[in-house]
Amino acid sequence: MPESLKQVSVLHLPVHLCRDYLSWLRSRLENGQTTHIVTLNSEMAMLAERTPQLTQVIKQAELVIPDGAGVIFYLRLRRHQQQRCPGIELAASLLEHIGQVPSFPIVFYGGAPGVAQKAAYYWENRSPNLNITAYHGYLSPSEEEQLKDFLQTTQPRVIFVGLGVPRQEYWIAQHRHLCPQAIWIGVGGSFDIWGGVKSRAPMWLRENHLEWLYRLYQEPWRWRRMLVLPQFALRAFVK
Ligand code: UDP
Repeated sequence: MPESLKQVSVLHLPVHLCRDYLSWLRSRLENGQTTHIVTLNSEMAMLAERTPQLTQVIKQAELVIPDGAGVIFYLRLRRHQQQRCPGIELAASLLEHIGQVPSFPIVFYGGAPGVAQKAAYYWENRSPNLNITAYHGYLSPSEEEQLKDFLQTTQPRVIFVGLGVPRQEYWIAQHRHLCPQAIWIGVGGSFDIWGGVKSRAPMWLRENHLEWLYRLYQEPWRWRRMLVLPQFALRAFVK
């Protein structure tokens, strides 16, 4: 019996606390219980605050994990001793788990043309049991129809969607009925990392909650999006 989730609130959004998210997800997977995983960071929380549609999608998700250092900071100020759970790491643990036995189909959807395919090769080389079908994230409307047909006929049990926030959250909310037993997770730029197009921050930066700084160094155009981070920190103290 996996540990149950404890729901708390971060800027009026749900966040689910748990020591072992993977065990909780394994049980959902075994029982065919559909699950939308949202990986909440401060940028997304601030965006949700001014976007009711995103708030609604996050509230409907069965699992909202504390992905960002800002969210952990917010929780610690309220005496919740939760460890950070980066979405890319939970997604990787899920793939490692699924790869242990000859298993059901999986879909990677998102990223520039060729990248999700490279990410799929990376994972299939590591775990030959994995059976991944990759679609890039810039499909034409007719190609997207083909993807939807594929989902409906193949019924993959885990669908990784890397279209960026909030597009991936909206896409999952709109299409999750197509595979009613699946786990759906928005993975942002994870395919870029697994596909070798980008790299993650070195461990010492991650351990010091500075992964966002490395992203800013790699993708300076993010500075405008990141202006909300100090606002989030301020809100953490106030509310
Ligand atoms: N992307 C996509 N389709 C789009 C827009 C973006 O597949 O129409 C992909 C993009 O190639 C990148 C990912 O979405 O791989 C967004 O990554 P990012 O790290 O910016 O995600 P976020 O910070 O929003 O979680």
